[in-house]
Amino acid sequence: MKGKKFPEQPVVRTSHRHSGPVNVGPRVYWSVRQKFTPHEFGPQISLSGSMPEVLIVPEALAKMYAYICAAGSDEISWLGTVEDRGNKYIIKEIFLVEQTVNGVETEMTAEGMAELSEEFMARPDGETVWKETRFWGHFHPFSDAGPSAHDERQLHEFLNSGHEFFLRGICSANGIIQFTLYLINRGIIITDVPWSLNIEDNDELRQRTLAEVKEKVRKRIVETVRVMGGGHSAIGNPPYGRTCTRREVDNAIESFNQEGRNHGPSDDDQLEE
Ligand SMILES: [Zn+2]
Repeated sequence: MKGKKFPEQPVVRTSHRHSGPVNVGPRVYWSVRQKFTPHEFGPQISLSGSMPEVLIVPEALAKMYAYICAAGSDEISWLGTVEDRGNKYIIKEIFLVEQTVNGVETEMTAEGMAELSEEFMARPDGETVWKETRFWGHFHPFSDAGPSAHDERQLHEFLNSGHEFFLRGICSANGIIQFTLYLINRGIIITDVPWSLNIEDNDELRQRTLAEVKEKVRKRIVETVRVMGGGHSAIGNPPYGRTCTRREVDNAIESFNQEGRNHGPSDDDQLEE
């Protein structure tokens, strides 16, 4: 940098001429530093976007439910893949891992985890599935969906696995699933994240269904006629002056023909198509 000359800064001149005296308020500004003291804080965090949301693919929810039914009065845990789509975290696939359980604890074994990784590696999409395995779920048969001290300890093993986020879900016997989302990099934990089923628009299914609908579903055409006029008539039911279906009129005419013209219609009566 020696000897290098910076370009000269333009000089900005401002006029300080005022038409009258300037009001600068009470003269405290020069002593303000020593007057600031920490107050009683109540920090609040706001989201600049919308609240994250958990979406569960129906098959994944059905599998979780099936595991719970099979577990009976014991805890049971599972892992799952989560796709991060902005603010939506989609649980797609659920995996059962070898584990030890009792009524208040569940612990997946190291051997079980190794087996799962082997299973993934045998799949063509194994690497993606392994990367997306960011959901740990388990069932509490005897308590609510809040985490136990044991759950909190176990969670730290998952949190240290270098993921950007991790999702924990605890199911209780009264049908509650409480999701906790850990945005690890940002140091944010969101408890009781709202969840719903992920009903996706499935193109392939839509095309297949369209062909089936075309084959099996036909439109029913209902002919309607307006029955005009008033007074007494053999086709007095349905009433005059409203739109009737062609079938109603045909029925009325047929019943009139069968019963005979006991009360013949006046000349004003007419049937309009
Ligand atoms: Zn638990």
